[in-house]
Amino acid sequence: MRGPCAGWSTRGRRRPPSEGRGRPGAGDRRAASHPIGARMTAAPAPASTLDLGGAVLTYLPDGEFRAEPGIAYPTGSDDVLGSGLDVLDADGMLVLSIGAVLVTTPRHRVLIDTGIGDRTIALPRPGTTRDAFMRGGGLLQSLAAAGVAPEEIDAIVLTHLHADHVGWIGSGLDGAQATFPNAEIWVTDAEWSHWTGEEGAADAVGPRAQELALIGPRRRVLVPGTEPIPGITAVDTAGHTPGHVALEVAGARSRALVLGDAVHCPAELVRPDVVWAGDLDPTSAIRTRHALRDRLADGELIVVGPHFPDAVFRRTGTATGVEEADAATPRLHLLDAE
Ligand SMILES: [Zn+2]
Repeated sequence: MRGPCAGWSTRGRRRPPSEGRGRPGAGDRRAASHPIGARMTAAPAPASTLDLGGAVLTYLPDGEFRAEPGIAYPTGSDDVLGSGLDVLDADGMLVLSIGAVLVTTPRHRVLIDTGIGDRTIALPRPGTTRDAFMRGGGLLQSLAAAGVAPEEIDAIVLTHLHADHVGWIGSGLDGAQATFPNAEIWVTDAEWSHWTGEEGAADAVGPRAQELALIGPRRRVLVPGTEPIPGITAVDTAGHTPGHVALEVAGARSRALVLGDAVHCPAELVRPDVVWAGDLDPTSAIRTRHALRDRLADGELIVVGPHFPDAVFRRTGTATGVEEADAATPRLHLLDAE
């Protein structure tokens, strides 16, 4: 069931990309510290690489997301802001990264999600003139910097089909040209049937018609619990969307879990009961976040949060120099990327 908080888009207004590029005025800035105590130094994560042993993960930045915390968490953002984690930018806006994760193995070059594309989607921002948007455009440069051509991508695994995950499926003026012409595209049946159905079609932060047209003929059915690519296992994490999956990547030395949008902001792992505005089924999304928190609590799995600000590769439960978030809940520390 579609939750009451779903659909940023229906409450938003669209703006031309140029309008979103200006800096907010000094009068909009809050004091240097948020009333609840959140620090205001978060920024979109840079490109980074992590070698699991035979499988290398590379975070490929595409763009960024900025939103009022109270809009991102419509039932209350105090838990997130009070988590002790750094989630706000200098203007007091929640900041997230937007990008994709490249998995390189001896035999495959796989993209987990594809960013939002070269565009800006405005988000609601009642009561403030500060910018609120999702914006992309950098993914192909990030891929080139990693030394990979789009033609070399042989598989794309989509955690789900929101706009900020399918944006580079197509490119060219009408977005009808396959950006990764040699890639098969893995999507679960639950996800595909939602977004090709009536409800999905009416959601402005879903995939566009040109993306569905490109995915359809090349789609492979992704089944949770199975390996679409050797060493990459789909993990059922439904809730944010009906067929959402996380992807566990196994290397010779270590394993990582790419969370997709089961967790947007690292604070959601510390405070899993918060409701994210885009969760289509908030109850299931919360249940999923609890399960993920339990699974990640011992710190064995490396956490990959493609939307996390500052650093997408993290580990819970180890002390590596970043402050403890909460003594009673899993800690999230920066993991040094190679
Ligand atoms: Zn997303």
